[in-house]
Parts: sequence; C-alpha cells; structure tokens
Amino acid sequence: MTDLDRYHRQMRLPGIGAEGQARLGRGSVFIAGCGALGTVAADLLCRAGVGTLVIVDRDVVESTNLQRQTLFTERDASRSTPKAEAARLRLAQANSNVRVRAFVEEIDSETIGSLAEGCDLILDGLDNFETRYLLNDFAVSTGVPYLYGAGVATQGMSMPVLSRRGPGSSATIRWRDADATPCLRCLFPTPPPAGSTPTCETAGVLGSVTMTVAAHQATQAIKLLVGDVGAVDRTLRSFDLWTNVNRSLGIAESADADCPCCVRGRFEHLDAPPASSRILCGRNAVQIRGKAGESGIDLDAVANRLAGLGTIEAAAGSIRGRLNERSPDGDPVSVVMFADGRAIIEGGTDPDWARGVFDRIVGR
Ligand SMILES: [Zn+2]
Repeated sequence: MTDLDRYHRQMRLPGIGAEGQARLGRGSVFIAGCGALGTVAADLLCRAGVGTLVIVDRDVVESTNLQRQTLFTERDASRSTPKAEAARLRLAQANSNVRVRAFVEEIDSETIGSLAEGCDLILDGLDNFETRYLLNDFAVSTGVPYLYGAGVATQGMSMPVLSRRGPGSSATIRWRDADATPCLRCLFPTPPPAGSTPTCETAGVLGSVTMTVAAHQATQAIKLLVGDVGAVDRTLRSFDLWTNVNRSLGIAESADADCPCCVRGRFEHLDAPPASSRILCGRNAVQIRGKAGESGIDLDAVANRLAGLGTIEAAAGSIRGRLNERSPDGDPVSVVMFADGRAIIEGGTDPDWARGVFDRIVGR
C-alpha cells in the first residue's frame, strides 16, 4: 500500500482528486477545544489526511464525556488524561502520517496568537461563548476562515465565517468578495450572559447531534483546504434530530453594516486581558490561572502540598487531588493542576473560594 492508497475512496471524488489530496496533505487546521465536536472533527480530518492538526483543550477526560467524545476511552477517564494528549495518542493510531500537535492550555487573548500561528483555518469545538468571540476576532483580524459549530440537547448548528475584510496577506485560503460572509458578531452582537443558555449538563445532548455538527464542520474544512471555496455552505445551518426540523438561514442578509469587528476592525475580545478565573461550562468547577507574569508551575511541589491536604490520584500530564474538605456548597473538592500553571477546582462555582483553594495549593 502506498501512502496515498488509503485515501483512494475520497480521491475518487471529483471535488478532491489527486490535487485536492495533495492540498489536504499541506493543510493545517487549528481545532479549538477537543470535546464532542473537536474529537469527531479531528478524527475525520486526520483520517482524510490533513497534514497538521493543532489540538488545544484545557480539560481532562471525564466519564460523562465517553457517550459522545469518540477519541476517548474508559482508561483516559479513570486516569484523568488531558483531552488534547489523549486525542493525540489515539489519532496517531488512526493515521501516523498526520502531524498532531497537542496543547493542554487555555485559549485566551495571550495564547491564541502562538497556538494558531501558521494554521490555514480554525475549527470551533468549544463549549463557551467568550472563547468563540475571541476566535471570531482572531479569524477576522488575521483573515483566516473560522468554522463555528455548537450542539446541545437534540439541536445543532454550524456556520462559516469568511471575513468581509478578506483573506489576510499571509492567509493560504483565499476568497472573492462575493464569497465573504458576515462574522459571528454580525449575527449575535454580544455573548449571552453566562448561565443564560442551556448547557450539555442541564439540557443533555445527543451524541449523534454533536457528531452531525462536527461532520458538517469537517466537510467545510475539507472544501476550503482543497481550494473549493465556492462549495462552502454559506448559511447558518441548524437542525433538530429529534423533531426533524432543519433550517438553513442565508447569512448574507444578516451582515451588520456597522459591525465593530468585521467592518470597523475593533477586536475587543482579542484586546482584553485573559480572565484570571472562569466558571467552567457544565462542570461545577472553576478554572484559575496563575498570576500575570507566571508561566508554568513546579508540579512536584504542588503534589507534595496536595498530599498534605488530601489524597493524590495518578493522572497523566497533570496532578489530580481530592481534598479532605467540603466546598461552601457542601460538595467534595477536587483539584486538577496543569503544568502551564492553571488549575481546575471542582466542587463549586464561586471564583473567590476557588482562588483561595488555588493559593493554598501553590503555596501562597
Ligand atoms: Zn461582523
């Protein structure tokens, strides 16, 4: 079998062929978030032979992920393996020709520039609106395509952003003005207030819904990478797999002629400093970052301190500890500490309380 034989079935497609396959092999996709959408999109793009995948996720695998996050196993959940790392190991087994770069990091205004550098497009696998607006700002400011996607309960939606400001000077994917689209902020000017939208924890989610969204996103990514920009689905496509209602909203008419982002060129989310704490979607947990100027942390010292406060559980690429205390809500308290200096404090959603736990663990 030659390296290309494995792609025979998709190279038969007129839209791909040998030239398209070669382009896929030179392509690079930034997968922002490796959960229900990111695992499926990464799997599809890896098997399709996209040359480089940059996978970024801040969290670890949990048992409730396994129903829909197809790259993970029970062993990953029991070991609290960081999602990006678990995905990298699994993808290497599916297609060893693909270069997978995995980062266990928060995507924020300080990190996105280096994380996404050199990528041809951005695929949204996120679970929160703050980071989506950051991706939208970054994509519009650099002229790189952004593929938005979301799914909750039995409903999913997907939409491409090809900036009306046009492709950036260094962007590899180029498009005509006629192929440009509004941005996320044209359609949804401000992020919904935290807690105002249903989450996968409160409303549930069907695995086939997020897989359908991710498959649609991955398909648009392949069209862009092979250079068939005209074939991209330039609609806000939404569907309910339970009630069988499908909608396809033309987005051109939703363009905001005065959009602060894709018309005025103000990138408020990219310019704002990263939040020092963040309540995590559907997790009864808060993420805490180290203070500004600190990068990385001595995990051995943290492990020693945690051992004095509770029990350490072995975890790959992170430290997980269960504390001998209860949160203000009366829940058990667990901590996952990452080498980049972040911690996820589980057991409550009060940022001040979580910051106190963090400071004790890192020795302040
Ligand atoms: Zn806009």
